[in-house]
Amino acid sequence: MVRDILKYGDPRLVRPSEPVTEFTDELRRLVEDMFETMYAARGVGLAAPQIGVNRRLFVMDCSGGRDAAERVVLINPEILATEGEVVEEEGCLSLPGLYAKVARPYRVLARGLDLDQREITLEVTGLAARCVCHEVDHLDGRLYISRLSPLKRDLLERKIRKMIKSGEW
Ligand SMILES: [Zn+2]
Repeated sequence: MVRDILKYGDPRLVRPSEPVTEFTDELRRLVEDMFETMYAARGVGLAAPQIGVNRRLFVMDCSGGRDAAERVVLINPEILATEGEVVEEEGCLSLPGLYAKVARPYRVLARGLDLDQREITLEVTGLAARCVCHEVDHLDGRLYISRLSPLKRDLLERKIRKMIKSGEW
C-alpha cells in the first residue's frame, strides 16, 4: 500500500526514531509499504519516519526498481566508518521539487539487521553512500536542509513558505 509521505514542516520528521524491537509480520508489511511508497514517488530511499512511523529503519534502491539486487532494507542501522567527501545535489521526498548541494562521505560502512534479524554489513560508495547517510539522518530527526549553510537554508525555507502560502506544499 502506498502511504502518504510527510513533508518538511511536519513535527514527526524532526523527532529521533526508536529502535525496532519486534520483528513481526507487521514489520514486513511496513517494509513492503515503504518500498511501494518509495517507487511510486520515484525516490531511491525512504525512512520510516517519512511515513509517520517512529522506528529506526529505511529502504533504499539506487537502481530505481530495475535491479532487485539493489533493494536494501536496513533495520537499526549504524554508520561504522566513512571516508572522503563529495559535494553533490541532493533531494528528499519530504522536500519535493527542491534540491541543494550537500557534502557527504564518498564511502560508508554501515551495519544493521534485515527482516530475519540477520546482521548485514553494507559497504557502499557514491550515491548509495549519500543515500545511507541521508536516511540515517532521517532516523535521527534531521533533514538535509539542516546541513546547509544558514544562507542557503534560509533561501530554501523562504521558497517553502511561499509554496505553503500558495497552497502548493
Ligand atoms: Zn529524505
